[in-house]
Amino acid sequence: MTEEAFDVMVVGSCMTDLVSQAPRLPKAGETIHGHKFFIGFGGKGANQCIQAARLGAKTTMVCKVGKDFFGDNYIQNFKDNGVNTDFVEQTSSAATGAASIIVNDAGENAIVIVAGANLLLGSEELQKALPAISRGKVLVCQLEISPQTSLQALRMAQENKVKTIFNPAPAIPDLDTGFYRASDVFCCNESEAELLTGSSVTNVEEAHRAAQELLQRGCGSVIVTLGPQGCVVLEARDSTSKHVPTTAVTAVDTTGAGDSFIGALAFYMAHYPTMPLEEMTRRANQVAGVSVQAVGTQTSYPFRKELPAELF
Ligand code: ATP
Repeated sequence: MTEEAFDVMVVGSCMTDLVSQAPRLPKAGETIHGHKFFIGFGGKGANQCIQAARLGAKTTMVCKVGKDFFGDNYIQNFKDNGVNTDFVEQTSSAATGAASIIVNDAGENAIVIVAGANLLLGSEELQKALPAISRGKVLVCQLEISPQTSLQALRMAQENKVKTIFNPAPAIPDLDTGFYRASDVFCCNESEAELLTGSSVTNVEEAHRAAQELLQRGCGSVIVTLGPQGCVVLEARDSTSKHVPTTAVTAVDTTGAGDSFIGALAFYMAHYPTMPLEEMTRRANQVAGVSVQAVGTQTSYPFRKELPAELF
């Protein structure tokens, strides 16, 4: 077991994407031939951790996978990306989280997600990771594992003066108010902001208003990401939120852009603790902007060496 201090610790999900491309989606009871199949690594927690690692953060992942082929494969994927796996547990009680995805030629999809082992991550695993959590710099959580586990992890981090980023995704209505208080940075996208505030969030103006409302619930700062429009940032010490636009690019696949943004933000918070949040988000926009220019989720995440030196 390591005594290392980590820059970025992610307590979250791992999912294996099983993707079939077919001319059309099958009807109930029907078998059809597809023309391509591939396996991808996903899960919001793992995506964010891998993006942070690719930028040069010393990372560890606290998660649960099955004692199965996909679990073994995922652990190897973490190792290949330089992510510490001391807190990746394997269980015989459930399969590794998986998303079975069928995409038709029109780009429409049908998806079944089975969270499996992700939902078995709980207090016991957090207690094991506590010595590492207490020594780390930034802890990141989402909602693809049990919400109680995420909240407990965020609280553990805060009690140990570790900075927290909470990404309320996928969003749930009536989010426990404890999540806001346990978030140094509360980072969501437009649809999550909309579900949490109950108001429309489809443009920069509405994102400013949503950020104000979310901040009042007790977090240290709020970021609302806005796809090609960058993001809106609001810190508790400021009365007005700022729009941080991003560079226009030709997007080919935006899947996982939000996770790339959050992984990059975690890297900047750990490495440049005194940098203004606005500048960190400007740089995270650039990193996520690179990810949308390539196909796939983790496969599209840039490494430090592929990015301009001014981002470091
Ligand atoms: P996803 O669900 O696809 O992972 P998301 O909805 O959580 O993404 P977005 O707000 O769409 O997150 O995007 C996150 C960040 O990625 C944006 O703040 C921006 O920096 C970058 N980004 C996304 N789409 C584009 C785009 N078309 N052009 C440039 N940057 C983009």
